[in-house]
Amino acid sequence: MKPQLSKLEAIGWGLLAFGILLTPVSAILGLVLVIIGCICTLKNAPKVKPLYKRARIYVAGVLWVVVVLGGMTNNAPPPITPPTITSLTLHCNSSLEVDIEDTKTISILVSEDGASTENVTFTSSDSNVLTFTADRTNDTLSGIITPKAEGTAEIMISAGDVESAPVTVTIVDSERIAAEEAAKKAAEEEAARKAAEEAAKEAAEQQAVVQQPQEEMVWIPQSGSKYHSKSSCSGMNSPQQVPLSQAISNGYEPCKRCY
Ligand SMILES: [Zn+2]
Repeated sequence: MKPQLSKLEAIGWGLLAFGILLTPVSAILGLVLVIIGCICTLKNAPKVKPLYKRARIYVAGVLWVVVVLGGMTNNAPPPITPPTITSLTLHCNSSLEVDIEDTKTISILVSEDGASTENVTFTSSDSNVLTFTADRTNDTLSGIITPKAEGTAEIMISAGDVESAPVTVTIVDSERIAAEEAAKKAAEEEAARKAAEEAAKEAAEQQAVVQQPQEEMVWIPQSGSKYHSKSSCSGMNSPQQVPLSQAISNGYEPCKRCY
């Protein structure tokens, strides 16, 4: 015997179907209709075995859950594509000097804001002089210059076709330069000291000469009491030249003719 479909059961099936259809629009309203529908189909259905009744509730419930989950995945927002990089800038002067004992961090400006910097490449034109590497701590991208040897190298960054302006970096060994300058200064000071010593010695010698002025010399005769400025005066025979002071202390007097 074919089971008779009661009016209430028919309404129940209708509500159930409508509830499922409504679920993507309003999950709660859909669930309410599904539950009412289930109750209606099972009310006044004594011929349906309890096992099937339970199964019908489970199937309706599972169907509702599937529709809800399906709606959620469909309504999920589309994945946001980050903006692409349009310009890269090394935030520093176009030429830098870095001491060989130091490292230097260079800030990097990236346009557009929020662009992924994963593929930014760091370049050093001479890795024997310095390396230029990425630093991504604190969520900001910066570059670190690590000196290797004295010299000059160019650094730049790029992402695809976008390149930064190059920066010329000179690695200097300021300790060596300072040592050389100190040595040069010491040598200059030593030379200056020697020159001063030399000059002082020369001045002292000159002063000695000045302090010992040549004493005036006079001529005294073999016999007589006068001293003369000229050896030829008064027809002296083999006159003797002596200092003036000596002539005076020996009692000589100036010649009236030549003095
Ligand atoms: Zn005389």
